[in-house]
Amino acid sequence: MDNTSKIPSYLSRDQLGPWETYLVQIDRVEPYLDKALLPWVETLTRPKRSLIVDVPIRLDNGVIAHYEGYRVQHNLSRGPGKGGIRFHPEVTLTEVMALSAWMTIKNAVVNVPYGGAKGGIRVDPKKLSIAEQERLTRRYASEINIMIGPDRDIPAPDINTNEQVMAWFMDTYSVNQGKTTTGVVTGKPVSLGGSLGRHDATGRGVFVTTVEAARHLGISIAGARVAVQGFGNVGEAASRLFADAGAKVVAIQDDTGSIYNASGLDIRKVRQYRQETGGLAGAPDSEPIDNEHFWSCEIDILVAAAMENQITEHNAPLIRARIVAEGANGPTTPGADLILQERGILVIPDVLANAGGVTVSYFEWVQDISAFFWSEDEINSRLDKIMRDAFAAVWNAAHAKGILLRTAAFVLGCERVLTARKLRGLYP
Ligand code: NAD
Repeated sequence: MDNTSKIPSYLSRDQLGPWETYLVQIDRVEPYLDKALLPWVETLTRPKRSLIVDVPIRLDNGVIAHYEGYRVQHNLSRGPGKGGIRFHPEVTLTEVMALSAWMTIKNAVVNVPYGGAKGGIRVDPKKLSIAEQERLTRRYASEINIMIGPDRDIPAPDINTNEQVMAWFMDTYSVNQGKTTTGVVTGKPVSLGGSLGRHDATGRGVFVTTVEAARHLGISIAGARVAVQGFGNVGEAASRLFADAGAKVVAIQDDTGSIYNASGLDIRKVRQYRQETGGLAGAPDSEPIDNEHFWSCEIDILVAAAMENQITEHNAPLIRARIVAEGANGPTTPGADLILQERGILVIPDVLANAGGVTVSYFEWVQDISAFFWSEDEINSRLDKIMRDAFAAVWNAAHAKGILLRTAAFVLGCERVLTARKLRGLYP
Protein backbone atom coordinates (compact mmCIF):
# COMPACT_ATOMS: atom_id res chain seq x y z
CA MET A 1 0.00 0.00 0.00
CA ASP A 2 1.12 3.55 -0.61
CA ASN A 3 2.45 5.64 2.23
CA THR A 4 -0.51 7.95 2.78
CA SER A 5 0.94 9.77 5.81
CA LYS A 6 2.60 12.30 3.49
CA ILE A 7 -0.70 13.29 1.90
CA PRO A 8 -1.48 16.86 2.91
CA SER A 9 -4.67 17.66 4.77
CA TYR A 10 -6.11 19.71 1.89
CA LEU A 11 -6.92 16.39 0.27
CA SER A 12 -9.93 16.13 2.54
CA ARG A 13 -11.53 18.58 0.14
CA ASP A 14 -13.26 17.31 -2.96
CA GLN A 15 -12.83 20.71 -4.57
CA LEU A 16 -9.46 20.01 -6.15
CA GLY A 17 -9.59 20.87 -9.83
CA PRO A 18 -8.34 18.31 -12.38
CA TRP A 19 -4.93 19.97 -12.71
CA GLU A 20 -4.41 19.94 -8.92
CA THR A 21 -5.52 16.30 -8.87
CA TYR A 22 -2.88 15.52 -11.49
CA LEU A 23 -0.19 17.36 -9.49
CA VAL A 24 -1.11 15.31 -6.41
CA GLN A 25 -0.80 12.15 -8.50
CA ILE A 26 2.72 13.19 -9.60
CA ASP A 27 3.64 13.91 -5.94
CA ARG A 28 2.48 10.43 -4.96
CA VAL A 29 4.55 8.84 -7.71
CA GLU A 30 7.82 10.70 -7.22
CA PRO A 31 9.18 8.51 -4.36
CA TYR A 32 8.92 5.41 -6.58
CA LEU A 33 10.66 6.83 -9.67
CA ASP A 34 14.16 5.83 -10.80
CA LYS A 35 16.42 8.32 -8.95
CA ALA A 36 18.35 9.11 -12.15
CA LEU A 37 15.16 10.60 -13.62
CA LEU A 38 14.29 12.88 -10.68
CA PRO A 39 16.03 16.00 -12.08
CA TRP A 40 13.50 15.88 -14.96
CA VAL A 41 10.29 15.38 -12.95
CA GLU A 42 9.37 19.06 -12.94
CA THR A 43 8.95 18.76 -16.73
CA LEU A 44 5.77 16.79 -16.02
CA THR A 45 4.27 19.62 -13.97
CA ARG A 46 4.70 22.20 -16.75
CA PRO A 47 2.75 21.88 -20.01
CA LYS A 48 5.09 22.45 -22.93
CA ARG A 49 2.78 24.68 -24.96
CA SER A 50 -0.69 26.13 -24.29
CA LEU A 51 -2.80 28.08 -26.74
CA ILE A 52 -5.97 30.06 -25.95
CA VAL A 53 -7.97 31.13 -28.99
CA ASP A 54 -11.01 33.25 -29.64
CA VAL A 55 -13.49 31.34 -31.82
CA PRO A 56 -15.99 33.78 -33.34
CA ILE A 57 -18.87 32.43 -35.43
CA ARG A 58 -21.95 33.87 -37.07
CA LEU A 59 -25.04 32.28 -35.52
CA ASP A 60 -28.00 31.32 -37.72
CA ASN A 61 -29.82 34.51 -36.60
CA GLY A 62 -26.94 36.70 -37.85
CA VAL A 63 -25.49 37.54 -34.41
CA ILE A 64 -21.72 37.06 -33.98
CA ALA A 65 -20.92 34.92 -30.93
CA HIS A 66 -17.46 34.40 -29.39
CA TYR A 67 -16.29 31.19 -27.69
CA GLU A 68 -13.01 30.46 -25.93
CA GLY A 69 -11.00 27.54 -27.29
CA TYR A 70 -7.83 25.80 -26.07
CA ARG A 71 -5.17 23.41 -27.28
CA VAL A 72 -2.48 22.26 -24.86
CA GLN A 73 0.53 20.12 -25.72
CA HIS A 74 1.63 18.82 -22.35
CA ASN A 75 4.67 16.82 -23.42
CA LEU A 76 6.16 15.89 -26.81
CA SER A 77 9.19 13.91 -25.65
CA ARG A 78 7.99 10.59 -27.11
CA GLY A 79 6.33 11.81 -30.31
CA PRO A 80 3.67 14.13 -31.71
CA GLY A 81 0.88 15.35 -29.43
CA LYS A 82 -2.24 13.20 -29.23
CA GLY A 83 -5.50 13.85 -27.44
CA GLY A 84 -9.15 14.65 -27.95
CA ILE A 85 -11.23 17.80 -28.35
CA ARG A 86 -14.03 18.48 -25.89
CA PHE A 87 -17.03 20.79 -26.40
CA HIS A 88 -18.48 21.57 -22.97
CA PRO A 89 -19.75 24.71 -21.17
CA GLU A 90 -17.37 24.11 -18.25
CA VAL A 91 -14.14 23.56 -20.21
CA THR A 92 -11.28 25.63 -18.78
CA LEU A 93 -7.60 25.97 -19.58
CA THR A 94 -6.61 24.12 -16.40
CA GLU A 95 -8.99 21.26 -17.18
CA VAL A 96 -7.45 20.94 -20.66
CA MET A 97 -3.97 21.06 -19.08
CA ALA A 98 -4.88 18.11 -16.83
CA LEU A 99 -6.47 16.15 -19.65
CA SER A 100 -3.38 16.71 -21.83
CA ALA A 101 -1.10 15.55 -18.99
CA TRP A 102 -3.15 12.37 -18.50
CA MET A 103 -2.73 11.76 -22.26
CA THR A 104 1.05 11.99 -21.85
CA ILE A 105 0.97 9.32 -19.15
CA LYS A 106 -1.65 7.16 -20.90
CA ASN A 107 0.19 7.10 -24.24
CA ALA A 108 3.34 6.02 -22.43
CA VAL A 109 1.51 3.31 -20.40
CA VAL A 110 0.28 1.60 -23.58
CA ASN A 111 3.57 2.52 -25.28
CA VAL A 112 2.16 4.26 -28.37
CA PRO A 113 4.69 6.73 -29.84
CA TYR A 114 2.92 9.94 -28.88
CA GLY A 115 3.20 12.81 -26.46
CA GLY A 116 0.14 14.17 -24.68
CA ALA A 117 -2.20 16.92 -25.87
CA LYS A 118 -5.84 17.95 -25.48
CA GLY A 119 -8.18 20.65 -26.71
CA GLY A 120 -11.57 22.06 -26.04
CA ILE A 121 -14.08 24.84 -26.54
CA ARG A 122 -16.09 26.38 -23.71
CA VAL A 123 -19.50 25.93 -25.33
CA ASP A 124 -22.72 24.02 -24.92
CA PRO A 125 -23.02 22.48 -28.40
CA LYS A 126 -26.58 21.33 -27.64
CA LYS A 127 -27.59 25.00 -27.88
CA LEU A 128 -26.12 25.29 -31.40
CA SER A 129 -27.61 24.09 -34.69
CA ILE A 130 -25.64 21.58 -36.78
CA ALA A 131 -24.59 24.37 -39.16
CA GLU A 132 -23.38 26.49 -36.21
CA GLN A 133 -21.44 23.49 -34.82
CA GLU A 134 -19.78 23.05 -38.21
CA ARG A 135 -18.74 26.74 -38.35
CA LEU A 136 -17.47 26.49 -34.76
CA THR A 137 -15.38 23.40 -35.55
CA ARG A 138 -13.95 24.89 -38.75
CA ARG A 139 -13.00 28.20 -37.11
CA TYR A 140 -11.45 26.41 -34.12
CA ALA A 141 -9.49 24.08 -36.45
CA SER A 142 -8.18 27.16 -38.31
CA GLU A 143 -7.27 28.97 -35.06
CA ILE A 144 -5.23 26.04 -33.70
CA ASN A 145 -3.79 25.22 -37.15
CA ILE A 146 -0.39 26.57 -36.02
CA MET A 147 -0.05 23.68 -33.58
CA ILE A 148 -1.53 20.65 -35.31
CA GLY A 149 -0.61 18.28 -38.13
CA PRO A 150 -0.18 14.53 -38.65
CA ASP A 151 3.41 14.66 -37.43
CA ARG A 152 2.88 17.44 -34.85
CA ASP A 153 -0.37 17.02 -32.92
CA ILE A 154 -3.31 14.77 -33.81
CA PRO A 155 -6.74 15.53 -32.24
CA ALA A 156 -9.58 13.02 -31.73
CA PRO A 157 -13.13 13.05 -30.33
CA ASP A 158 -13.94 13.55 -26.64
CA ILE A 159 -17.06 14.64 -24.77
CA ASN A 160 -19.69 16.06 -27.20
CA THR A 161 -17.50 15.65 -30.28
CA ASN A 162 -17.90 12.78 -32.72
CA GLU A 163 -16.81 11.46 -36.11
CA GLN A 164 -18.74 14.19 -37.96
CA VAL A 165 -16.81 16.85 -36.02
CA MET A 166 -13.59 15.02 -36.91
CA ALA A 167 -14.62 14.97 -40.60
CA TRP A 168 -15.17 18.78 -40.58
CA PHE A 169 -11.86 19.22 -38.76
CA MET A 170 -9.96 17.06 -41.25
CA ASP A 171 -11.60 18.84 -44.20
CA THR A 172 -10.70 22.30 -42.83
CA TYR A 173 -7.08 21.34 -42.25
CA SER A 174 -6.89 19.71 -45.69
CA VAL A 175 -8.37 22.77 -47.45
CA ASN A 176 -5.82 25.01 -45.72
CA GLN A 177 -2.99 22.64 -46.72
CA GLY A 178 -4.20 22.21 -50.30
CA LYS A 179 -4.18 18.40 -49.98
CA THR A 180 -6.28 15.75 -48.28
CA THR A 181 -4.55 14.89 -45.01
CA THR A 182 -6.52 12.14 -43.30
CA GLY A 183 -3.85 11.56 -40.63
CA VAL A 184 -4.41 14.95 -38.95
CA VAL A 185 -7.22 13.60 -36.75
CA THR A 186 -8.42 10.19 -35.61
CA GLY A 187 -11.93 9.01 -34.80
CA LYS A 188 -13.02 9.87 -38.36
CA PRO A 189 -15.83 8.09 -40.23
CA VAL A 190 -14.62 4.79 -41.73
CA SER A 191 -15.41 6.08 -45.23
CA LEU A 192 -12.97 8.94 -44.66
CA GLY A 193 -9.89 7.07 -43.39
CA GLY A 194 -11.35 6.11 -40.03
CA SER A 195 -10.57 2.75 -38.48
CA LEU A 196 -12.85 -0.19 -37.95
CA GLY A 197 -13.21 -0.86 -34.24
CA ARG A 198 -12.59 2.76 -33.18
CA HIS A 199 -16.16 3.37 -32.02
CA ASP A 200 -16.06 0.65 -29.34
CA ALA A 201 -12.32 0.84 -28.65
CA THR A 202 -12.36 2.75 -25.36
CA GLY A 203 -15.22 0.69 -23.94
CA ARG A 204 -13.47 -2.44 -25.16
CA GLY A 205 -10.26 -1.46 -23.37
CA VAL A 206 -12.27 -0.85 -20.18
CA PHE A 207 -13.82 -4.31 -20.58
CA VAL A 208 -10.53 -6.11 -21.31
CA THR A 209 -8.66 -4.55 -18.38
CA THR A 210 -11.60 -5.27 -16.04
CA VAL A 211 -11.66 -8.91 -17.15
CA GLU A 212 -7.96 -9.11 -16.28
CA ALA A 213 -8.51 -7.52 -12.87
CA ALA A 214 -11.48 -9.80 -12.17
CA ARG A 215 -9.40 -12.84 -13.05
CA HIS A 216 -6.77 -11.82 -10.48
CA LEU A 217 -9.48 -11.31 -7.83
CA GLY A 218 -11.26 -14.57 -8.65
CA ILE A 219 -14.44 -12.82 -9.88
CA SER A 220 -16.25 -14.47 -12.78
CA ILE A 221 -17.50 -12.00 -15.41
CA ALA A 222 -20.43 -14.27 -16.25
CA GLY A 223 -23.06 -13.29 -13.69
CA ALA A 224 -21.04 -10.38 -12.24
CA ARG A 225 -23.18 -7.34 -11.34
CA VAL A 226 -22.04 -4.14 -13.05
CA ALA A 227 -23.08 -0.49 -12.66
CA VAL A 228 -22.09 2.05 -15.29
CA GLN A 229 -22.01 5.83 -14.90
CA GLY A 230 -22.13 7.57 -18.30
CA PHE A 231 -23.91 6.03 -21.26
CA GLY A 232 -22.08 7.75 -24.11
CA ASN A 233 -19.31 6.55 -26.36
CA VAL A 234 -17.40 4.79 -23.56
CA GLY A 235 -20.15 3.74 -21.14
CA GLU A 236 -22.55 2.33 -23.75
CA ALA A 237 -19.86 0.21 -25.45
CA ALA A 238 -18.51 -1.06 -22.12
CA SER A 239 -22.06 -1.92 -20.92
CA ARG A 240 -22.77 -3.83 -24.13
CA LEU A 241 -19.51 -5.81 -23.94
CA PHE A 242 -20.09 -6.73 -20.28
CA ALA A 243 -23.67 -7.82 -21.06
CA ASP A 244 -22.50 -9.83 -24.10
CA ALA A 245 -19.98 -11.61 -21.83
CA GLY A 246 -22.78 -12.70 -19.49
CA ALA A 247 -22.45 -9.98 -16.83
CA LYS A 248 -25.59 -8.32 -15.46
CA VAL A 249 -25.52 -4.55 -16.01
CA VAL A 250 -27.89 -3.75 -13.16
CA ALA A 251 -27.63 0.06 -13.06
CA ILE A 252 -26.89 2.85 -15.52
CA GLN A 253 -26.64 6.58 -14.84
CA ASP A 254 -26.32 9.46 -17.27
CA ASP A 255 -26.93 13.20 -17.01
CA THR A 256 -30.71 12.59 -17.20
CA GLY A 257 -30.93 10.15 -14.24
CA SER A 258 -30.40 6.53 -13.19
CA ILE A 259 -32.16 3.23 -13.95
CA TYR A 260 -31.97 -0.22 -12.36
CA ASN A 261 -32.88 -3.86 -12.97
CA ALA A 262 -31.54 -6.51 -10.58
CA SER A 263 -31.67 -9.14 -13.35
CA GLY A 264 -29.67 -7.00 -15.77
CA LEU A 265 -30.73 -4.27 -18.23
CA ASP A 266 -31.06 -4.96 -21.95
CA ILE A 267 -28.35 -2.59 -23.19
CA ARG A 268 -29.43 -2.44 -26.83
CA LYS A 269 -33.02 -1.66 -25.83
CA VAL A 270 -31.83 1.01 -23.39
CA ARG A 271 -29.62 2.54 -26.08
CA GLN A 272 -32.47 2.67 -28.58
CA TYR A 273 -34.82 4.17 -25.96
CA ARG A 274 -32.20 6.77 -24.99
CA GLN A 275 -31.72 7.71 -28.66
CA GLU A 276 -35.46 8.04 -29.28
CA THR A 277 -36.44 9.89 -26.10
CA GLY A 278 -33.25 11.67 -25.01
CA GLY A 279 -33.48 10.24 -21.48
CA LEU A 280 -33.10 7.02 -19.46
CA ALA A 281 -36.25 7.24 -17.30
CA GLY A 282 -38.90 4.84 -18.60
CA ALA A 283 -36.47 2.60 -20.53
CA PRO A 284 -37.83 -0.94 -21.11
CA ASP A 285 -37.59 -3.37 -18.16
CA SER A 286 -36.09 -0.80 -15.80
CA GLU A 287 -37.08 1.18 -12.74
CA PRO A 288 -35.81 4.70 -12.04
CA ILE A 289 -33.56 5.06 -8.98
CA ASP A 290 -32.15 8.13 -7.25
CA ASN A 291 -28.50 9.16 -7.21
CA GLU A 292 -27.81 7.74 -3.74
CA HIS A 293 -29.27 4.36 -4.71
CA PHE A 294 -27.12 4.30 -7.85
CA TRP A 295 -23.89 4.73 -5.87
CA SER A 296 -24.87 2.27 -3.15
CA CYS A 297 -26.30 -0.63 -5.17
CA GLU A 298 -24.90 -4.07 -4.59
CA ILE A 299 -22.46 -4.76 -7.43
CA ASP A 300 -19.12 -6.36 -8.22
CA ILE A 301 -17.89 -3.84 -10.78
CA LEU A 302 -18.42 -0.09 -11.17
CA VAL A 303 -17.52 1.55 -14.47
CA ALA A 304 -17.10 5.32 -14.13
CA ALA A 305 -17.47 6.55 -17.72
CA ALA A 306 -18.97 10.04 -17.43
CA MET A 307 -16.66 12.88 -16.38
CA GLU A 308 -14.05 14.07 -13.88
CA ASN A 309 -14.64 14.23 -10.13
CA GLN A 310 -17.69 11.94 -9.99
CA ILE A 311 -16.42 9.59 -7.24
CA THR A 312 -15.95 11.89 -4.27
CA GLU A 313 -15.46 11.69 -0.52
CA HIS A 314 -19.25 11.91 -0.33
CA ASN A 315 -20.17 8.84 -2.40
CA ALA A 316 -16.95 6.72 -2.15
CA PRO A 317 -18.03 5.32 1.26
CA LEU A 318 -21.30 4.10 -0.36
CA ILE A 319 -19.71 2.12 -3.20
CA ARG A 320 -20.08 -1.64 -2.75
CA ALA A 321 -18.11 -2.79 -5.81
CA ARG A 322 -14.89 -4.82 -5.61
CA ILE A 323 -13.51 -3.20 -8.78
CA VAL A 324 -13.83 0.38 -10.04
CA ALA A 325 -12.84 0.79 -13.70
CA GLU A 326 -12.15 4.38 -14.71
CA GLY A 327 -13.55 4.71 -18.24
CA ALA A 328 -13.65 8.50 -17.82
CA ASN A 329 -10.60 10.67 -17.28
CA GLY A 330 -10.08 11.68 -13.66
CA PRO A 331 -13.44 10.41 -12.30
CA THR A 332 -12.05 9.80 -8.79
CA THR A 333 -10.94 12.69 -6.56
CA PRO A 334 -7.68 12.13 -4.60
CA GLY A 335 -9.69 12.08 -1.36
CA ALA A 336 -12.05 9.42 -2.75
CA ASP A 337 -9.03 7.45 -3.99
CA LEU A 338 -7.82 7.11 -0.40
CA ILE A 339 -11.27 5.97 0.77
CA LEU A 340 -11.49 3.30 -1.94
CA GLN A 341 -7.95 2.18 -1.04
CA GLU A 342 -8.83 1.90 2.66
CA ARG A 343 -11.96 -0.07 1.79
CA GLY A 344 -9.96 -2.54 -0.32
CA ILE A 345 -11.68 -1.63 -3.60
CA LEU A 346 -9.40 -2.15 -6.60
CA VAL A 347 -9.27 0.89 -8.91
CA ILE A 348 -8.16 0.35 -12.52
CA PRO A 349 -6.85 3.84 -13.24
CA ASP A 350 -7.97 5.91 -16.21
CA VAL A 351 -4.51 6.05 -17.79
CA LEU A 352 -4.75 2.27 -18.18
CA ALA A 353 -8.48 1.45 -18.29
CA ASN A 354 -9.50 3.95 -20.98
CA ALA A 355 -6.36 3.72 -23.14
CA GLY A 356 -8.14 1.52 -25.71
CA GLY A 357 -9.39 4.61 -27.56
CA VAL A 358 -5.98 6.13 -28.14
CA THR A 359 -4.57 2.71 -29.01
CA VAL A 360 -7.01 2.28 -31.90
CA SER A 361 -6.48 5.96 -32.77
CA TYR A 362 -2.83 5.04 -33.16
CA PHE A 363 -3.86 2.15 -35.44
CA GLU A 364 -6.01 4.59 -37.45
CA TRP A 365 -3.10 7.02 -37.86
CA VAL A 366 -0.76 4.20 -38.94
CA GLN A 367 -3.37 2.97 -41.46
CA ASP A 368 -3.87 6.52 -42.84
CA ILE A 369 -0.16 7.16 -43.21
CA SER A 370 0.50 3.81 -44.89
CA ALA A 371 -2.81 3.95 -46.86
CA PHE A 372 -3.36 0.30 -45.98
CA PHE A 373 -6.37 -0.71 -43.91
CA TRP A 374 -6.75 -3.63 -41.51
CA SER A 375 -9.70 -5.92 -40.76
CA GLU A 376 -11.77 -5.41 -37.59
CA ASP A 377 -10.60 -8.77 -36.21
CA GLU A 378 -6.99 -7.73 -36.67
CA ILE A 379 -7.64 -4.41 -34.93
CA ASN A 380 -9.49 -5.97 -31.99
CA SER A 381 -6.92 -8.70 -31.45
CA ARG A 382 -4.05 -6.18 -31.54
CA LEU A 383 -5.99 -3.92 -29.15
CA ASP A 384 -6.75 -6.75 -26.73
CA LYS A 385 -3.09 -7.77 -26.67
CA ILE A 386 -1.85 -4.23 -25.98
CA MET A 387 -4.43 -3.76 -23.20
CA ARG A 388 -3.63 -7.12 -21.59
CA ASP A 389 0.13 -6.51 -21.81
CA ALA A 390 -0.26 -3.02 -20.31
CA PHE A 391 -2.45 -4.39 -17.53
CA ALA A 392 0.11 -7.12 -16.75
CA ALA A 393 2.99 -4.59 -16.69
CA VAL A 394 1.07 -2.33 -14.30
CA TRP A 395 -0.20 -5.19 -12.13
CA ASN A 396 3.30 -6.72 -11.81
CA ALA A 397 4.90 -3.35 -10.99
CA ALA A 398 2.21 -2.67 -8.36
CA HIS A 399 2.84 -6.02 -6.69
CA ALA A 400 6.64 -5.80 -6.93
CA LYS A 401 6.67 -2.35 -5.30
CA GLY A 402 3.64 -2.79 -3.01
CA ILE A 403 1.81 0.20 -4.51
CA LEU A 404 -1.61 0.94 -6.01
CA LEU A 405 -2.36 0.28 -9.69
CA ARG A 406 -2.68 4.05 -10.25
CA THR A 407 0.74 4.72 -8.77
CA ALA A 408 2.24 1.80 -10.69
CA ALA A 409 0.70 3.00 -13.98
CA PHE A 410 2.06 6.50 -13.34
CA VAL A 411 5.51 5.10 -12.47
CA LEU A 412 5.55 3.13 -15.73
CA GLY A 413 4.28 6.05 -17.81
CA CYS A 414 6.39 8.74 -16.14
CA GLU A 415 9.57 6.67 -16.41
CA ARG A 416 9.03 6.14 -20.15
CA VAL A 417 8.42 9.87 -20.70
CA LEU A 418 11.31 11.00 -18.49
CA THR A 419 13.72 8.48 -20.02
CA ALA A 420 12.96 9.93 -23.46
CA ARG A 421 13.29 13.46 -22.05
CA LYS A 422 16.64 12.69 -20.42
CA LEU A 423 18.03 11.03 -23.56
CA ARG A 424 17.02 14.01 -25.71
CA GLY A 425 18.81 16.37 -23.31
CA LEU A 426 18.25 20.08 -22.84
CA TYR A 427 18.52 22.54 -25.71
CA PRO A 428 20.61 24.70 -25.95
P1 NAD B 1 -19.99 11.17 -24.26
O1 NAD B 1 -20.30 12.59 -24.39
O2 NAD B 1 -20.24 10.24 -25.41
O3 NAD B 1 -20.76 10.53 -23.00
C1 NAD B 1 -20.71 11.10 -21.73
C2 NAD B 1 -21.78 10.44 -20.89
O4 NAD B 1 -21.68 10.90 -19.54
C3 NAD B 1 -23.19 10.75 -21.35
O5 NAD B 1 -24.00 9.58 -21.22
C4 NAD B 1 -23.67 11.81 -20.35
O6 NAD B 1 -25.08 11.81 -20.17
C5 NAD B 1 -22.97 11.33 -19.09
N1 NAD B 1 -22.80 12.36 -18.09
C6 NAD B 1 -22.31 13.62 -18.25
N2 NAD B 1 -22.33 14.28 -17.07
C7 NAD B 1 -22.84 13.42 -16.17
C8 NAD B 1 -23.11 13.52 -14.78
N3 NAD B 1 -22.86 14.63 -14.10
N4 NAD B 1 -23.65 12.44 -14.15
C9 NAD B 1 -23.90 11.30 -14.83
N5 NAD B 1 -23.66 11.15 -16.14
C10 NAD B 1 -23.14 12.20 -16.81
O7 NAD B 1 -18.45 11.10 -23.81
P2 NAD B 1 -17.45 9.89 -23.91
O8 NAD B 1 -16.67 10.04 -25.18
O9 NAD B 1 -18.16 8.62 -23.61
O10 NAD B 1 -16.44 10.25 -22.74
C11 NAD B 1 -16.74 9.92 -21.38
C12 NAD B 1 -15.46 10.03 -20.58
O11 NAD B 1 -14.49 9.11 -21.11
C13 NAD B 1 -14.78 11.39 -20.57
O12 NAD B 1 -14.12 11.58 -19.33
C14 NAD B 1 -13.74 11.25 -21.67
O13 NAD B 1 -12.66 12.15 -21.51
C15 NAD B 1 -13.31 9.82 -21.42
N6 NAD B 1 -12.68 9.17 -22.56
C16 NAD B 1 -13.30 9.06 -23.75
C17 NAD B 1 -12.68 8.41 -24.80
C18 NAD B 1 -13.36 8.18 -26.13
O14 NAD B 1 -12.81 7.46 -26.96
N7 NAD B 1 -14.52 8.73 -26.34
C19 NAD B 1 -11.38 7.89 -24.64
C20 NAD B 1 -10.77 7.99 -23.39
C21 NAD B 1 -11.43 8.65 -22.36
